[in-house]
Amino acid sequence: MEVTAHDILLIGGGGAGLRAAIAIAEADPRLNLAVVSKVYPMRSHTVSAEGGAAAVIAANDTIDEHAYDTISGSDWLADQDAVEIFVNNVTHEMLRLEHWGCPWSREPDGRIAVRPFGGMKKERTWFAADKTGFHMLHSLFQTSLKYGEIKRYDETFATRLLVDDGVVGGVVAIELATGKIRAIMAKAVILCTGGCGRVFPFTTNANICTGDGMALAFRAGAPLKDMEMVQYHPTGLPQTGILITEATRGEGGWLVNKDGYRYLQDYDLGKPTPTPVFRSMELGPRDRLSQAFVKEMEKGRTLKGPYGDYVHLDLRHLGEKKIDEKLPMVRELCRNYANIDPVHQMIPVRPVVHYMMGGISTDSSGATPLKGLYAAGEAACVSMNGANRLGSNSLGELLVFGARAGTSAAQYASGARRPSDRLLAQAADEERRIEREYLNRNSGRERIAKLREEMQHAMESACGIYRTRQTLEEGAAKLAELKQRFGGITLDDHSRTFNTQLMAALELSGMLEVAESMVHAALWREESRGAHQRTDFPKRDDQKFLAHSIAHRNAEGPPRIESLPVTITRWPPGERVYGR
Ligand SMILES: Cc1cc2nc3c(=O)[nH]c(=O)nc-3n(C[C@H](O)[C@H](O)[C@H](O)COP(=O)(O)OP(=O)(O)OC[C@H]3O[C@@H](n4cnc5c(N)ncnc54)[C@H](O)[C@@H]3O)c2cc1C
Repeated sequence: MEVTAHDILLIGGGGAGLRAAIAIAEADPRLNLAVVSKVYPMRSHTVSAEGGAAAVIAANDTIDEHAYDTISGSDWLADQDAVEIFVNNVTHEMLRLEHWGCPWSREPDGRIAVRPFGGMKKERTWFAADKTGFHMLHSLFQTSLKYGEIKRYDETFATRLLVDDGVVGGVVAIELATGKIRAIMAKAVILCTGGCGRVFPFTTNANICTGDGMALAFRAGAPLKDMEMVQYHPTGLPQTGILITEATRGEGGWLVNKDGYRYLQDYDLGKPTPTPVFRSMELGPRDRLSQAFVKEMEKGRTLKGPYGDYVHLDLRHLGEKKIDEKLPMVRELCRNYANIDPVHQMIPVRPVVHYMMGGISTDSSGATPLKGLYAAGEAACVSMNGANRLGSNSLGELLVFGARAGTSAAQYASGARRPSDRLLAQAADEERRIEREYLNRNSGRERIAKLREEMQHAMESACGIYRTRQTLEEGAAKLAELKQRFGGITLDDHSRTFNTQLMAALELSGMLEVAESMVHAALWREESRGAHQRTDFPKRDDQKFLAHSIAHRNAEGPPRIESLPVTITRWPPGERVYGR
């Protein structure tokens, strides 16, 4: 087996991974650093972010207001020290990004343009038209190229973390083009592997968002935090799940039911006004809007289509000029994927799984409880999003906490010892396991696609917008069954060259673990908070559950769930008030 060694290894070449890589190269240019990514970095999911990234810049805005919106948006489950670090650093990060080439949209007088976003009280969402993620990732990628010392392993899939005596020392990874299995050793590893929307059947997330890093960490003994907190975005295209950005509502779009009625006024989110009002109606937070859709559906006031119930997003009153200037990609997506023109027609939309608030548990420097292991971006839970992330806080999060994880890993690696040689035996074991359980296996009968589909539908029924003990227990039983059946899978492709079936199998095995942690954390949390709505426990319960869920993996059986107190600094838990 080929063995290579570096000081620091980044798993993931998306926004968080590249921001961390730049921070490390800046912190200590002598550190030997590598980025492993299962796709070419510019294909990471960050590229598809549309609406924008939040940071205080407008004269009438304050950092405390950004903190408060984030904390109340999180239904008080965010750690307030993490939120304070975020709001205090994000504007600087956004300006740096501009210096690296990110073309932020501007007002005619040259100031940075900002738009309103859901759950935010002020205009603070920076954007590059509606292709923000593309421009951000491009700026990070081209800046990373300045540093010759960043070695890249593109299209290389990490399958296991190497851990000796509680210290992480590298990964095993498959080079997809050749099937070559490598041991890549490092003193520190940072997981920036993104989200896991693909655990569900209907999601805005790219095919690659399968939570691999969460599963890698979990299997290696690092716990996962707040995995029950799954965000549904209220506006996806019904057939494909393609996201119609919140920027449409930031620019003044309306949500209407089958009678053309702006139904959000019935859900304690304020009343219609001639111009949009912050934190009101369509600018309410995502959890409340997605829940309102379900209630509207129960009242029979949604439209019925071949891909389920939907409502309409109406942009027609914004006019062609504004749509072309501010929302060109929305027009393009609607034309190409729904055959409608939002200048003249309403857009059919329904809630869609979008973002994972939970993830690998880290402190505010990105460190996990496992020595040498760090995490940042959507794969991590630091936690600043709590029970509901505000739109446009994630892109800023991956800059602020990507950089912090990079800096702290650099500090750690500078003084850490070379990984133990004992890890090579672990790496050889992993190679044999992949050959035995996947590549050389002929006997199984279970199809990967079928198991994946069953998992996704089980998750939607068990752990969707509304949950109960019964749905969750059924989901847990189904996942246990699927994990067992996974032992009997078959692969038709035994070749080593771009074996995408092997990759799908590895992804599915990780997703089953991630899904289990979600269902069991959701069973544990007997209250309703943010995105986690238990109809059998409809109230928020700060006495018992002002706490994070921490899922630990058990070798046998379901994960063990423990609780960890939430850090409160300046904002005691209060009522979440919108529309007033
Ligand atoms: C359609 C869409 C629109 C969005 N719009 C916005 C927005 O406007 N504003 C906002 O704030 N947020 C938005 N978000 C959320 C935000 O974009 C993401 O949370 C964020 O970009 C995630 O970045 P990341 O670096 O953590 O992960 P990603 O960009 O997903 O990168 C993950 C990386 O990990 C690598 N990887 C994964 N598994 C492995 C493995 N096993 N081995 C090797 N490499 C691996 C991948 O190759 C990839 O490079 C949006 C999300 C979506 C899906």
